[in-house]
Amino acid sequence: MEKFDVIVVGAGLAGLAAAYTLAQENLEVLVLEKGDYPGAKNVTGGRLYLHPVRELFPGLWDKAPLERHIVREEVALMARERSVTMSYAGSELTQPPFPSFSILRAKFDRWLAQQAEKKGAMLINKSRVDELILENGRVIGVRAGGDELGADVVIAADGVLSFTAAMAGLRKDQDPKHFAVGFKEVIELDRGIIEDRFGLEGDEGAARLFMGEVTKGKFGGGFLYTNKTSLSLGIVVGISDLMNAAPAIPAPQLLDEFKLRPEIARLIRGGETVEYSAHVIPEGGLKSMGRLYGDGILVVGDAAGFSMNIGVTVRGMEYALASGYYAAQAVIRAREKGDFTSAGLQVYQQILEESFVMKDFRNFKESLDVLEYPPLFNHIPELAGDLLRDLYAVGPGPKERIYPTLRNHLTMGEIWGLIKLGRRMMKI
Ligand SMILES: Cc1cc2nc3c(=O)[nH]c(=O)nc-3n(C[C@H](O)[C@H](O)[C@H](O)COP(=O)(O)OP(=O)(O)OC[C@H]3O[C@@H](n4cnc5c(N)ncnc54)[C@H](O)[C@@H]3O)c2cc1C
Repeated sequence: MEKFDVIVVGAGLAGLAAAYTLAQENLEVLVLEKGDYPGAKNVTGGRLYLHPVRELFPGLWDKAPLERHIVREEVALMARERSVTMSYAGSELTQPPFPSFSILRAKFDRWLAQQAEKKGAMLINKSRVDELILENGRVIGVRAGGDELGADVVIAADGVLSFTAAMAGLRKDQDPKHFAVGFKEVIELDRGIIEDRFGLEGDEGAARLFMGEVTKGKFGGGFLYTNKTSLSLGIVVGISDLMNAAPAIPAPQLLDEFKLRPEIARLIRGGETVEYSAHVIPEGGLKSMGRLYGDGILVVGDAAGFSMNIGVTVRGMEYALASGYYAAQAVIRAREKGDFTSAGLQVYQQILEESFVMKDFRNFKESLDVLEYPPLFNHIPELAGDLLRDLYAVGPGPKERIYPTLRNHLTMGEIWGLIKLGRRMMKI
């Protein structure tokens, strides 16, 4: 059996970050990717926060195919017939080093794979890992397309449905409540049109999140990110909400309806859809996380459940990059001791605990329970829309005073509802 220091299953951001870091330290790394090329099957909304990972990969970012740096944050509460949008612009968003960028995975992952290969990693595309090879309960390699390949450590970077982690007995039983599904289109538009429509200059970009009617009041939301010459537009909905919806909601139709909303239609007008994708997202956080290491195996990125939705941000990519990097560090330390058993690899958990990764997941362990609050996605957007409609309204007769207008909408019942929401929010 041909033997490598490390075999990485999956060339997404987590797997490539591990391979890049290990190859840099002259370890023999093989990456097996089932897609035609890295990025071919990978889906993201499209926003990468660089600050948490900038230092982990020095010298990598200058030439990275980043799209636009985000200078404007918007959140829209979408009611059935109106919407209320909060927009934020701040000087810290406009000065380098920029905190976050829109990216397109088809370009970005391919480029990152090239950087890992330049460092010496070996990548084989169109190669699906079918099985782990176990010896006395310890992972010693993988079977892929009839070949048997050995390694001191296998890194499970095969994404949200990770069968490698499951086969090694590291995954917890999965509850649909801990997963969401996303649908996304990349819509091509002229660069100038994007800049005019979103009020941007040069490589500036905008990010918009939507909640409410976009998911028919179900847990989830919509997103829109500007790229250089395209827009990433999509929706994400909680799987258990979808399963329990009566009448059933055909999820892909939500995106079609979202595109017809006047707020969106005018932004995408004249654009051409050049990519359509759908993907599952792990959103259970700490509560759904299994074990992150075992004998001869480490789990990284979405395979480990490292993705988090806290309402104002959806993050997974920098956790994928960072966990790949930290897994590589753990392998390097285990190698120094010559111990690739669970005892030697548990340093991965320690490194993660000291890093922003596990600190974030511990700090936000209640975020899913807090956000799974139906009024947030149906009643509150309607309430906010109706309130602003009446505040702005000027009818044929005399205008109502502002205080009674507020009181009409913000009844004692509503105020108690908002206090209840505030109390839930105190958990995150
Ligand atoms: C709709 C949507 C919106 C999102 N928005 C954002 C966002 O704006 N910002 C953000 O930071 N995160 C976002 N996320 C989350 C983020 O995209 C993920 O957390 C991230 O892509 C995880 O990277 P990964 O490398 O762990 O997994 P993946 O990118 O899924 O990579 C796994 C790889 O493993 C390969 N693979 C699987 N099985 C096998 C096998 N048996 N053999 C070989 N190869 C295999 C796959 O082909 C794939 O290339 C979003 C996710 C979705 C779906």
